[in-house]
Amino acid sequence: MRRISIFGATGSIGEQTVDLMLHHGGAETFRTVALTGGRNVARLAEMARALRAEVAVTAFDDCLPALRAALAGSGIEAAAGEVALLEAADRPADWIMSAIVGAAGLAPGFHALRHGTTLALANKESLVTAGPLLMAEAARHGARILPVDSEHSAIFQALVGEDLAAVERIVLTASGGALRDWPLERLARATVAEALAHPNWSMGQRITIDSASMFNKALEVIETREYFGVAPEQIEVIIHPESIIHSMVGYRDGAMMAHLGAADMRHAIGYALNWPERADLPVARLDFAALAQLTFRAPEDARYPALRLAREVMATRGLAGAAFNAAKEIALDHFIGARIGFADMAGVVEDTLAALSRRNGLGNAPMGLEDVLSMDRIARAEAETCALALA
Ligand code: NDP
Ligand code: MG
Repeated sequence: MRRISIFGATGSIGEQTVDLMLHHGGAETFRTVALTGGRNVARLAEMARALRAEVAVTAFDDCLPALRAALAGSGIEAAAGEVALLEAADRPADWIMSAIVGAAGLAPGFHALRHGTTLALANKESLVTAGPLLMAEAARHGARILPVDSEHSAIFQALVGEDLAAVERIVLTASGGALRDWPLERLARATVAEALAHPNWSMGQRITIDSASMFNKALEVIETREYFGVAPEQIEVIIHPESIIHSMVGYRDGAMMAHLGAADMRHAIGYALNWPERADLPVARLDFAALAQLTFRAPEDARYPALRLAREVMATRGLAGAAFNAAKEIALDHFIGARIGFADMAGVVEDTLAALSRRNGLGNAPMGLEDVLSMDRIARAEAETCALALA
């Protein structure tokens, strides 16, 4: 039986992964090693019981008593804290889902690569902050990283049987997010609830707001560069409001290979779970006559400054991705807390990058994970200062 662990099991991606495991036979088909979550320990315990996991881990120490109580009599171990997360990642498993949100997902995924496992990577922040380190660690241990982000799963699938050297361009599709049709001058006053009203995808709160600001697409452009090793100039972003084409690969002969499907993350999760095979998935099938048309438009620079910032980050590389992601996470916290406006998020990130490149220099390549985590802390502190200045 395949041994499986899920980091961030109680989140949007985690829930859908568990859903697919149950669809494929649950504990009859998979041996679940570790399931991890954050504050939602009731749900974590429920999942651990349903899949008969060996251990359930909450990221937060103060949640341990509640987790223990919820698992009483089940024979499932309970653990808490950052060290427990790493210990869970050290338990041998054949397939590990990395679906913690934010930079907190980096270290567990990194650890999991050490036993040459297959890492299904939803946590794009890992590649943005530490792409070269993560890819090198995977190569060193003979581990495989499978993309779970829908765009990257689409690109991965469009590359099957092809030679990377024949790739001319990669086109990432973007829905444009909840505010894509708003007049520019109204954007500054957008509320959290308005940014959360995503037209197509149902996702966690943070990524949904990042989708409206296109910080999510900015992370994904960098993720594409790091995962597939293509040059930044080869990566394009196009707004495709229907979210039917999940991304495209263009080849030297002018041919484009696209991945189409319903806007349902179980396409990408299920592909990674069953790879290299394809299995029946409980996702809606496309009805082209009902769809009638697929439309596209170029993203406006003024509406989506995050895309320009991503290009700057790729030009600098080194520790710029770690600083970019950390500043973005702090800016998002302040927007969610209603301390800064929607349009201020890009300002916080831009000011943080400018201050850090003046003071620390961001171009030096990190030697190890510690350098990345250290830049993450420095950039968070700097972004707090920049956010206060704008608040
Ligand atoms: P959610 O916010 O829905 O879930 C996040 C998960 O991480 C939960 O299990 C949460 O626990 C846990 N968690 C939160 N904070 C911490 C922490 N400090 N340490 C450890 N665990 C923590 O996120 P999503 O599922 O939306 O996203 C997960 C990742 O997948 C992100 O990197 C995102 O960019 C990526 N992704 C998501 C997509 C989606 O459709 N949702 C699409 C493509 C990529 P709890 O809830 O119990 O507190
Ligand atoms: Mg995506």
